Amino acid sequence: MERRTFLLSLPAVPLLAGGVSIPAGKFADGPHLDGKDTVRVVIENPDEPLVLRAFAILKDRIEMRCPAQVVRAESVGQIILKVSGDLPEEGFRIDGTGSGVRITGGSPQGLLFGSGKFLRTSRYDGAFHASPWRGTSMPQGSLRGMYFATHFHNWYHVAPEAEIVRYLEDLALWGVNALEICFPFINLQDWNDPQADVAVGMMRMYARVARDLGLQFGTGVNNTLFKGVPPHLRATPLPDPTHRRGNSGHPVCPSQPEGLEYIMENTRKLFQHMTDAGLDFLVHWPYDEGGCACEKCLPWGCNGFVKVSREITQLGREFFPGLKSILSTWMFDTPPEGEWQGLSDVLANDNNWVDYILADSHEEFPHYPLDIGTPGKLPLLNFPEISMWGNWPWGGVGANPLPDRYQRLWDQVKHVVQGGFPYSEGIYEDMNKVVVAQFYWDRDRSAQATLAEYVVYEFGPEVMQDCLALVEILEAAAGCSYTKQPVDPKKIRLAYEMAEGIKRRLPSWAGQSWRWELVYLRAVLDQERFVKGGLETPPAEEALSRLIEIYHCQMETDDPYHHRVRPPLRKAVTRGKEL
Ligand SMILES: [Zn+2]
Repeated sequence: MERRTFLLSLPAVPLLAGGVSIPAGKFADGPHLDGKDTVRVVIENPDEPLVLRAFAILKDRIEMRCPAQVVRAESVGQIILKVSGDLPEEGFRIDGTGSGVRITGGSPQGLLFGSGKFLRTSRYDGAFHASPWRGTSMPQGSLRGMYFATHFHNWYHVAPEAEIVRYLEDLALWGVNALEICFPFINLQDWNDPQADVAVGMMRMYARVARDLGLQFGTGVNNTLFKGVPPHLRATPLPDPTHRRGNSGHPVCPSQPEGLEYIMENTRKLFQHMTDAGLDFLVHWPYDEGGCACEKCLPWGCNGFVKVSREITQLGREFFPGLKSILSTWMFDTPPEGEWQGLSDVLANDNNWVDYILADSHEEFPHYPLDIGTPGKLPLLNFPEISMWGNWPWGGVGANPLPDRYQRLWDQVKHVVQGGFPYSEGIYEDMNKVVVAQFYWDRDRSAQATLAEYVVYEFGPEVMQDCLALVEILEAAAGCSYTKQPVDPKKIRLAYEMAEGIKRRLPSWAGQSWRWELVYLRAVLDQERFVKGGLETPPAEEALSRLIEIYHCQMETDDPYHHRVRPPLRKAVTRGKEL
């Protein structure tokens, strides 16, 4: 394809303005690969399972979008997949070879990331046009994770494994390299609870799926254990004057020798269950469901918490020698009690058991690491909440894209944060995930540039401008709804019309994708709830029913928390009440 033609067919401004990598990748003259029939791929390192996986993913995603057949060739291919030690491990390079395009990774995983860039910058207008993007790219952030909250019968909790596999592949293509899943001690009586084996099975499934893709897998640990913890071992409830730390679990006091023994014994059992699946990191979590306010544990964040986290890390490394330890400071100093300073003092003398400090809050980023520095001078991770803000139930009215919000929050921390774990309740905030994942890859890449690349890849270049405009209206409406301000009815109607217009122009593969459906249903539901008759009109109920199908929600449930993640269809039933 001529470069001019390519640029004309592209959403040139956002993609080119903000979309450069490090060092700058660029659009050069792409080879003319019509690929109407067959795209031949040469795999130079076929004994690496992840290289073969990258090929399988390329084949699947290309064939889904156009009639081309992607086949393996022994020599002379239009695409060459290669691993080379001359690149940083997670980096990739895309360059021309005369007759084709070569994607080289510094490792099989780097090749997978390069394959993602290649797929997103190729075009599929009835035939395959190989990416004209040329350059070398490597991530700036070292731990680019996602935290999937596997609870309340949300999508992560109940989706079939095949859907989860595909979704993790898609995230890995955007540069994600770590996944965190928690074991639901909080819901279980003890290891004999009939649900305990089910939960272990889910953890192991996620670990296997993630690690097969080269993603690191880890879990959260703290002093919150089973419901069946003996009463005399329980922690002293925390002071929580701002009601943001949480006291919902069954925390155990680690300053009582018997309490510490209970924590270590049950954590050991968890590690034993994970021995063959593997664990790459632990995230120690201070609050929400943890903590102890007894005299010996206070101040929790720089005293009892640090001691139990160190012990759990040492135990974990007996099972998993390379295990990384991530110390979270979530909700430190709310109220101020010197936890940040205290942790700095403790880690000044003894930081070698910790690999990362994680910091964030429900809303704005804490000041201490920005103004004073990270305790122990360790790399800093964040934990942006990308799921709950601006919508209730979470995902209940479809997609919840908030690119401007995450750009604003990122701009406050991008000079210090080196990765993190966005908190996710489901697939409806897929756009937020990729925006944040790309911040971790390239801290100066704008949310708009990422979103433009996303839309072009998932929905096609023709609808890019309209989709970005639609997302802007949806984000503004979510903000109004969250802050209880009136929405602009003209904009809501316009968003719906734009969604209808985009839908008519989509290629069939895009129109049938859940990603588009979630955006479209959101526009339908915004119009119903804000300018028409509410969420009980026939069009609203039809849209809500479709969301329930996509999320695999239960129409009748005994899970008293399921309503938090189930679209609010009138006839859906919940038996029981939240505790
Ligand atoms: Zn205590």
